[in-house]
Amino acid sequence: METLGSGENGTVSWRVWGHGAAVVSLQRAIRANRVSHAYLIAGAEGVGKRTLAQNFAQALCCPVDRPDPAIPCGVCRSCRRVDRGSHPDVQTVSLRTQAVAAEKPGSKNTSLTIDTVRSLRSSAALRPMEATRRVLIVDDAETLQGAAQEALLKTLEEPPPTVSIVLLANDAEALLPTIRSRCQAIELHPVGSAAIEAGLVGTGVDGGAARELAVLAAGRPGWAVRAAADPGVRQRQAEAVERAVAWIESGPYERLVTAVRTGDGFAKKRDEVFADLEAILGVWRDVMLVAGGVARHATHLPQMPAIEALAESTGLAEAAVALASTRRCLADLEANVRPRLALEGMVLAWPTMLQRG
Ligand SMILES: [Zn+2]
Repeated sequence: METLGSGENGTVSWRVWGHGAAVVSLQRAIRANRVSHAYLIAGAEGVGKRTLAQNFAQALCCPVDRPDPAIPCGVCRSCRRVDRGSHPDVQTVSLRTQAVAAEKPGSKNTSLTIDTVRSLRSSAALRPMEATRRVLIVDDAETLQGAAQEALLKTLEEPPPTVSIVLLANDAEALLPTIRSRCQAIELHPVGSAAIEAGLVGTGVDGGAARELAVLAAGRPGWAVRAAADPGVRQRQAEAVERAVAWIESGPYERLVTAVRTGDGFAKKRDEVFADLEAILGVWRDVMLVAGGVARHATHLPQMPAIEALAESTGLAEAAVALASTRRCLADLEANVRPRLALEGMVLAWPTMLQRG
């Protein structure tokens, strides 16, 4: 098992749950001293992109003499500062850091701006202060707009020799092909519930709760960790699933009205809308599983009666179309397509339900 504890060769692995292939390839690059100037780590929110990037940065910066350079000591001042986000050679930009740095609070802050990319560019020009390399992490990279992407491309085209830029994106397709082609691509897939369960138990969550959260997490360790620490996360997810079921169950007109209302509120409630869409994805996934006769893999057990009814009135093929349209909507919103347009397109692709009652 690649989560926590010892690896095959007796070394302690990174604190990453699942993603064995990605960890192995990054560790191999560090050992061979062939670290790339740019990486693009892509995968769903909560799947483990930030954690992977952080472990990578820690291994690159840890100054402690150790048998395997790919395994950071985890306890020295450098390692602790990477954990806290305060290492001078490891810088992260994200929508959150951008909001903190913004001189105009209250602006929409739904995409990384060209100013943020420029600040990153000047940071890339600095020599490392303590480590032998600087690691610049660009979180929320899927929100970069045209001009900002062009600016980022310039930095990627002339990479300073002592810098690694790590782009984290929920959807790699939102980035220019020219950006993608300059990065080493690392795609993170949903993590198996066994690995999430083992990870949770390793952090002290008791067995029963760990098993339950691992299933609800639907492949996202980050969600499981947040839900274990804050019962409100689970509550909000349950409410999002209830809203998702109600939206799907409603008639064509109500669906459109909800799409318009949700689209108009997107700028103010971005995270909430994304959470709702993730919940809708989960519901359609469960509808597919039930329609396909593998209901035991479904995750939304409390909503099972509603999901079974949906499976009965749609069937596998139509549920698959609905799932794809919801995925496309998420990708469109991440790429800053007009929210109302993206959401309307999504609900129009959902199959019409037989009205119950
Ligand atoms: Zn260390």
